[in-house]
Amino acid sequence: MERSDYQYAQVKVEQLKADYQVEVVADWGDSEGEWKPGTWTKAELDRLHKALVLMSDAMGGNGNFGQNLGGVKVRKANIGTHGGEALAHQVSFSEKGSFSSWTVVHEFAHAWDANHHWKLARLLEKYTGGFTSPPLSLIRRFVRLSDSGLLSPEKKPGRYGRWPGCNRAGYFYGDKPSGSNWSFNRLEDFAESVAMYIGWEKGNDLSDHARNRIIRYRLKNGDKDFFNVSDNWMDYAKRFYPDEGDYTRTKRWQFMHNLVHGKMNIT
Ligand SMILES: [Zn+2]
Repeated sequence: MERSDYQYAQVKVEQLKADYQVEVVADWGDSEGEWKPGTWTKAELDRLHKALVLMSDAMGGNGNFGQNLGGVKVRKANIGTHGGEALAHQVSFSEKGSFSSWTVVHEFAHAWDANHHWKLARLLEKYTGGFTSPPLSLIRRFVRLSDSGLLSPEKKPGRYGRWPGCNRAGYFYGDKPSGSNWSFNRLEDFAESVAMYIGWEKGNDLSDHARNRIIRYRLKNGDKDFFNVSDNWMDYAKRFYPDEGDYTRTKRWQFMHNLVHGKMNIT
């Protein structure tokens, strides 16, 4: 943060607290006459704010947002190789770099889920016809019915562990997620599904990303997708590409639509 942005940042921080119960832990400021820039930038505060607007609009207003998440502290921290992390009432972004709008929504979706004891992810798993079974996953990998190595993914096309159950968690996702890999589980599924729902065909900061997640399944095997990953996209299309490329036809989109409209029983 530049010293000249101090006033702007103060107002923004107060606004986020008042409107969304989101408290940015400021690491910038004056300390004995010396300006301490910290790790946040003005652009990041704006990006955070815009992403929260998208999320709360989807939820029907910032009153609902505040209720769903129950207040969140946001900080920048040393969190290893992750871009972000979330618990109930707490979101952390890596101090090593910046964060995207997608990451903001993804992490706040985790915080939302966490505030409901991770029950939202369980509901999504059930609604989409998935289940989690580590033993079944291991058997599948043993008999070579997986698209990964035995205990880890392989870094080559067709071996990243994208089939149902071919992941560390033994998560057999149902219906069609926008993607899957070795780290996929119902919690990641929920967070990604929130971001997909908010971004899909809405012309907002998440929309390009959401579209790029889907159109890669029209690429040829061996092609690189927008995220610079080369994979056998044609082989995966039947698992991930929605009917006629329309993500609103997926169970995930329907689940989210019901959830934000209060039509899911979450108690
Ligand atoms: Zn995540």
